[in-house]
Amino acid sequence: MPYLEARDLVVEYATRHGAVRALDEASLTVDAGEVVGVVGESGSGKSTIGTALARLLPGNARIAGGDVRVDGVSLLEMGDDELRALRRDRLGFVFQDPIGTLDPTARIGRQLRWVLGKGTSDATLAAQLERVRLSDPERVLRAFPHQLSGGMAQRVSIALALAREPRAVIADEPTASLDASVRGEILELLVGRTREAGAALMLMSHDLRAVRRWCTRVAVVYGGRVVETAPAERLFAAPRHPYTRALLEAAPGAERPGERLRPIAGIPPVLRGEFGGCAFAARCACAVEACTAQRPPLARLDDDGAAQPDHEVLCHLATVATPPRKERVA
Ligand code: ATP
Ligand code: SF4
Ligand code: MG
Repeated sequence: MPYLEARDLVVEYATRHGAVRALDEASLTVDAGEVVGVVGESGSGKSTIGTALARLLPGNARIAGGDVRVDGVSLLEMGDDELRALRRDRLGFVFQDPIGTLDPTARIGRQLRWVLGKGTSDATLAAQLERVRLSDPERVLRAFPHQLSGGMAQRVSIALALAREPRAVIADEPTASLDASVRGEILELLVGRTREAGAALMLMSHDLRAVRRWCTRVAVVYGGRVVETAPAERLFAAPRHPYTRALLEAAPGAERPGERLRPIAGIPPVLRGEFGGCAFAARCACAVEACTAQRPPLARLDDDGAAQPDHEVLCHLATVATPPRKERVA
């Protein structure tokens, strides 16, 4: 049984212009010991999956369909006390802006005691900070968040997220606001600490190179749907969904000698309700008639006769190895 699971999840945000459907029957699982990367363009629904999995959605959001489960138990059936205990003990969170996420009015030591309990000794708190390789833990315990650099504050956030040894950590672009020079070490620390703790990690990121390096499995999100999932190595070596292919071709560093970087033509959709076809149809170079009329089915790939149960693709042409591609003008 997966530890975290979004099943056919539909989430809508109320806006002045009507409801925005941020997730449209999105399904995703995270098992113990996995590092699952969640990738996709801005607005595709990555953060909404993460916040829905902890039922931390903002007030204007509603879960309009599907289910979210932790350890097999539906969060939709939990009362407030049970949810609070779940978020405190079994899930950890790391967000993009560490200084903004920490309480500006409390010293770091106090914030760690909120998580670990009032009676926790200074030595235990310092040990938590040593585990995230903060070199002067006593000084950091006395500091307020604004006295830390972004990288130090993110180390503190990782310490807070893992302090109660949760079974899963949700990290939403944990290095996006940090200096490029510290991004690699912070990600290495996050993955390393999560592994040491035996927890699962869900990592939302725009950095495909980092996802390739650190993730065991990748989920590609487009228009509120999970359009492809596969073990990381396989996804980067043999992507099947036309959107995944376009995303990898458009990524910095994707150029190969003699090949041009191809931007993805068109803009991502903002869905406003039931949508029958494939959300990528307007931008897809492989689209056929069925794509605008019918919702694509989920295909489990079975390449070369060898079962690939972990490779799932939401596309009418999923089983066609290289669908013919019409050139499009950006
Ligand atoms: P990014 O890469 O920019 O972080 P994302 O993939 O995390 O994007 P989400 O933040 O989950 O995407 O947003 C999905 C959709 O829901 C977008 O259309 C977004 O505009 C909309 N949305 C997100 N949060 C809200 C909100 N609080 N109110 C209204 N609409 C929202
Ligand atoms: Fe392209 Fe059709 Fe597949 Fe959507 S279902 S990605 S439009 S080929
Ligand atoms: Mg986001």
